[in-house]
Amino acid sequence: MSLKTALSRIKSIPEIQKRFNIFINVNQAAERQLQESSPELPLSNLVAGVKDNIVTKGLPTTCGSRMLADYESPYDASCVQALRDAGAVIAGKTNLDEFGMGSGGVHSYFGPVFNPMYPDLKVSAGGSSSGSAAAVAAGAVDFALGTDTGGSVRLPASYCAVLGFKPSYGRISRFGVVAYAQSLDTVGIIAKDISVIRRVFKVLDKYDPKDPTSLSVGFRKKASTIFRKRNKLRIGVPQEFLQQSVCDKYKNLLRQFIETLMRVGHEIYPVSIPSIKDSLPIYYTLSPAEAVSNLSRFDGIRYGTRDDTSDIENGVLFAPTRNNFGREVQDRIILGNYNLCSEAFKNNYVKAQKLRLQMMNQFDGIFRDSNILSNSKENEAGVDLIIGLTATSAPPTIDSFLRGESSSPTNEYLNDVFTMPMSLVGLPTLSMPIAKGIPVGIQITAQYANDDTVLEFVDGIL
Ligand code: GLN
Repeated sequence: MSLKTALSRIKSIPEIQKRFNIFINVNQAAERQLQESSPELPLSNLVAGVKDNIVTKGLPTTCGSRMLADYESPYDASCVQALRDAGAVIAGKTNLDEFGMGSGGVHSYFGPVFNPMYPDLKVSAGGSSSGSAAAVAAGAVDFALGTDTGGSVRLPASYCAVLGFKPSYGRISRFGVVAYAQSLDTVGIIAKDISVIRRVFKVLDKYDPKDPTSLSVGFRKKASTIFRKRNKLRIGVPQEFLQQSVCDKYKNLLRQFIETLMRVGHEIYPVSIPSIKDSLPIYYTLSPAEAVSNLSRFDGIRYGTRDDTSDIENGVLFAPTRNNFGREVQDRIILGNYNLCSEAFKNNYVKAQKLRLQMMNQFDGIFRDSNILSNSKENEAGVDLIIGLTATSAPPTIDSFLRGESSSPTNEYLNDVFTMPMSLVGLPTLSMPIAKGIPVGIQITAQYANDDTVLEFVDGIL
């Protein structure tokens, strides 16, 4: 990448911003930082967008919320620090569904993001990393960081026809990423070019002692020794992903893609992971339960905009401050508290944890290689990758998205049916566009910690 290209990206931002509402805050020093930076670093001359739930020194971090509208972190997240050390320049903080909760990019205090694939219509860019995917699609940045808890990197990547990579859980540090649901949260990378994703991942894929869930050096070594490079892969297509609700056009595109893979010598197998059908209830039991405790720090004392008055309304402490959360976040707080209350805990929360474990075992059962964490048995007849669609349909207009959601809030939750299983199991997954000009993404998934096979496979077919 040349300095000239990088500068032209920065110059294009004001116009792009007016049309698509991609950034919440723009780095006014980006041009100068580019000119002053050394040209010999691993990410020199690359312009980055950073989702606004990842903390940055010198630029506010709002999480798309009124609660944090003026918040500025005194330090950088580990992943942001690593990007800066490697020479990347941050163009700005990208818009998102508040605290990462949503799938349409419509739940931000700063307004919805518009999909650059449809410059004349108001179409959803997907969510919750809506601004990150749209920034890449519009050419404002070379790559952007997003976060993916249940699909938030992959779904917007699919809607904006770009690549979205969610690494295995624990590979990129979460230190400085505002937690939504810590057992599921991952930092992901969005770009148009697989070589950029690989370069950025190389910089970020490091053990971080500041993140207690960072994958240890020992496990990283184990992963690098047990996964072998293979030219011809065994690829599974889970039957549960071929459900009725997918439109025929998308099913046909998937079929054509599978035929191409067979032509180049890969072997395709139908596989079944029955637990996939439980992913939505498992996810919406566990993620709000984790979210509700993470969000408790926004009380106007530790974090959050405190109301000027006594912060009591109708006898309820903190009510005025906590009203700074948007409706979707408030809904999740209610749901999370309900799932954790004594009546529901055993029936809902504990059951969901058991079902999550069952799902992990079922995934382990279909892969050829062992899972470095669970030490599952190797299976010579197993598959190296699994593939399926990322989204059930083309991106909806913002109006139809909001209409669907107002008829039932669970309509929005259905957008992530294909992405949630990989989050619950922590698997590395990349969504890539498979048809020119059509926002349809395919997810490529490998065994836990086998991120390299995903990246090499995608590099090989693009
Ligand atoms: N749409 C899902 C949710 O609202 C996933 C969000 C995410 O991955 N951050 O929880």
